[in-house]
Amino acid sequence: MDEGEHAPNETDPGDTDESPTIDSETSSPSSTDDQSPRDPPIDQTTPNDLDMKPSNPGDSSSTDSRPEDSLPTDSTETESPTDSTETDPPTDETPTSTGTTASEEAVAAQSRDRSSPGVDLDGVVLDDDDNQGLFDDLLAGEPIFENKEVLRPSYTPHELPHRTDQINRMATILVSALRGETPSNILIYGKTGTGKTASAKFVSQELESTSKKYDVPCEVEYINCEVTDTQYRVLAQLANTFIEKNQAVIDDRLGRLRELASTADDDPGALESSAFTSVEELTETIERLEADAEEMEPVPMTGWPTDRVYTTFFDAVDYHERVVVIMLDEIDKLVEKSGDDTLYNLSRMNSELNNSRISIMGISNDLKFTDFLDPRVKSSLGEEEIVFPPYDANQLRDILQHRADISFKTDALTDDVIPLCAAFAAQEHGDARRALDLLRTAGELAERSQAEIVAESHVRQAQDKIELDRVVEVVRTLPTQSKIVLFAVILLEKNGVHNINTGEVFNIYKRLCEEIDADVLTQRRVTDLISELDMLGIVNAVVVSKGRYGRTKEMGLSVPIEETEAVLLSDSRLGDIENAQPFVQARFDN
Ligand code: ADP
Ligand code: MG
Repeated sequence: MDEGEHAPNETDPGDTDESPTIDSETSSPSSTDDQSPRDPPIDQTTPNDLDMKPSNPGDSSSTDSRPEDSLPTDSTETESPTDSTETDPPTDETPTSTGTTASEEAVAAQSRDRSSPGVDLDGVVLDDDDNQGLFDDLLAGEPIFENKEVLRPSYTPHELPHRTDQINRMATILVSALRGETPSNILIYGKTGTGKTASAKFVSQELESTSKKYDVPCEVEYINCEVTDTQYRVLAQLANTFIEKNQAVIDDRLGRLRELASTADDDPGALESSAFTSVEELTETIERLEADAEEMEPVPMTGWPTDRVYTTFFDAVDYHERVVVIMLDEIDKLVEKSGDDTLYNLSRMNSELNNSRISIMGISNDLKFTDFLDPRVKSSLGEEEIVFPPYDANQLRDILQHRADISFKTDALTDDVIPLCAAFAAQEHGDARRALDLLRTAGELAERSQAEIVAESHVRQAQDKIELDRVVEVVRTLPTQSKIVLFAVILLEKNGVHNINTGEVFNIYKRLCEEIDADVLTQRRVTDLISELDMLGIVNAVVVSKGRYGRTKEMGLSVPIEETEAVLLSDSRLGDIENAQPFVQARFDN
């Protein structure tokens, strides 16, 4: 978003069909990016790749229910149309092999010819194109996707090209857990889309499966702090997970002991090969376990004092010997929302635990978030640090290629699709999520336009669409004051003002505020709001010196004007401004 380099927007304000930002972005990968999207994809893809389990496209979790723009098109992603002839869409080809007689065929053929009078009604109903259902056309095309889920963020890949170093470092640190020792705490940093979550989940799966294999008590708990964002919730989730696990362990043990007890009832000798010397001792153990299970009360979602939640978690995790790795993803969100108490409490637990040990792995998108931490927490949490650098365009190509192989039908992509997606996403701070979104959206757009193959143009459309979606979302969620400032900029642009300065914006802003009865901020505050809009990539502001008149900011809009205005006007307060023209006129009065 730090696109302060954009040239001031020179677009004719009347020419609103063209979106300056999007246009410049769309054309830049091929012109300015040094990894031109047309470069041949590098072929020595992944010399370092871990030898991981084969991908399993079928095991995608389909919990991600992002709403799509168009329902009908989405129906094409189900697999049934190709799997089952019953759902084959009606086509012009009359099924000859399905028992129709020659005469029936003749009638049908005749009925297809609309000019022929006196057609058989049944034939018409069956074959008239006008009778195609809503979905028929959409189903008729060859599906482009083999398995679209593979391109969604909810899918955890089993192969992570270009993350071998980071994955190996995590493994080297965490292997202590498999030896029954406490691994150092780890902090993972990197911008969004650099594969932190995917790598951490991969490592945790491997760790747990290895611990099962060697029968060592090692468990990984993953918590997404963007969702679970208070100390109470984090501790409650941990407590309840361990209570559930303990109960399973107890149930299992009780089952075996009860069986032993009933065998011992008939044959007291049965105890000899067990750890129990008497039936009484066995009964006591059973009763103790039953009491334990009874005592483990799950934490309610709200209502308990925090120290009770903490104690419950403490007791649950310490119930038996084990090493627990707690992964706190998006840990910066937790600290931002609820401070560092949770981390403080978790990081000092080991000195008090008797049977178990915990190790914390924090994952942060914000490289500077430790600045807000208590120094003790900071040093404890950051015992080991692993950085996830942004991907470059070549690395993104590899990542996309791996995923495309399982998500698209063979030959569904032209050669330039993946390089172009990679080039666009490389500009977007090397974000693999963006790259995958682009590829999926391009596929969906191709599907929607009933193209047989995804082409470069679909990628460009996808880029525009994603960028516009982003802008709409950012503008929609702006505070009212920022919306008014932005509206002032838009009004000026629409009236042909170039290099708009802060004073001009402020004059229009003031009048708009009066019109809708909003508080009028000082010019200094408005200047701050303009800087924020600049940082969000919505306007592009540069400071210009006016010689002895001091300095001012000059700005232009860097997002599509019509769409942005529409989003602003959909806000009920701004929507009340019926005719804004007089406000702009007023600019000349000042
Ligand atoms: P982060 O947690 O750093 O924001 P994620 O791990 O969620 O990023 O990755 C974003 C998307 O990109 C996910 O869909 C993930 O599967 C994919 N991804 C990231 N890195 C790789 C990689 N090296 N190989 C394959 N897919 C990757
Ligand atoms: Mg993540």
